[in-house]
Amino acid sequence: IVPMRLQKFLARSGVASRRGSEDLMTAGRVRVNGEVVRELGSKVDPLVDVVTVDGKTVRLSDEPVTLMLHKPAGYLTTMSDPFDRPTVADLVPCDRYPGLFPIGRLDFDTTGILLFSTDGELGNGLLHPRKHVDKTYEAHVDGVVREAEIAALREGVLLDDGMTLPAEVDLVDSDGSTSNVRITIHEGRKRQVRRMCSFVGHPVLSLHRCKFGPLCLDGLPEGAWRLLDEGQVASLR
Ligand code: URA
Repeated sequence: IVPMRLQKFLARSGVASRRGSEDLMTAGRVRVNGEVVRELGSKVDPLVDVVTVDGKTVRLSDEPVTLMLHKPAGYLTTMSDPFDRPTVADLVPCDRYPGLFPIGRLDFDTTGILLFSTDGELGNGLLHPRKHVDKTYEAHVDGVVREAEIAALREGVLLDDGMTLPAEVDLVDSDGSTSNVRITIHEGRKRQVRRMCSFVGHPVLSLHRCKFGPLCLDGLPEGAWRLLDEGQVASLR
């Protein structure tokens, strides 16, 4: 979506007609990112700017948004928790983008890239078993991982819910008591990477997802989120 004139944005949001929206602007009732905007030529970016009329946020109802979060450890992947524990909903702009939901999940203690969208079709597509995108994890595990164990992880190991599909697995390094392993899986079962590593005798000490499909965090700090641009969203379809 490209920037558009503010009165067009207001009209498309259903606030008033184009003419009525101009009147709201000249009356000083419209703010963009907190600043009153009266100039009729002003433009807004519907995905980025926060537009309010009389203090109430206005948004285009039909423009889906998709964003990435750099999830820290210690947050549940759910939009609400009956026990009031920290959830990812505390970290993403749910008020600004109603209907935002996480695409898949990361465990409470797993860090890294987690996508959110208001676009149900995109989310369901990415979670569908036949369309599962590649996900890359950096696992810090207990013990020194041997080549035979790497080979077993690559070929597939037998978990409670069946054999894992072939995966790309590389030993990054080891300090003699723990190891770093990089794993790309093409499916997304519950706690899959933790269970795979435990299966070969190396429980995960910490787990980070650095890549989801073609997307990386690109320096996004832990706890921060960033909107995907149109090209990035297209790369997921
Ligand atoms: N695999 C896991 O074990 N945990 C995650 O959070 C993601 C993948």
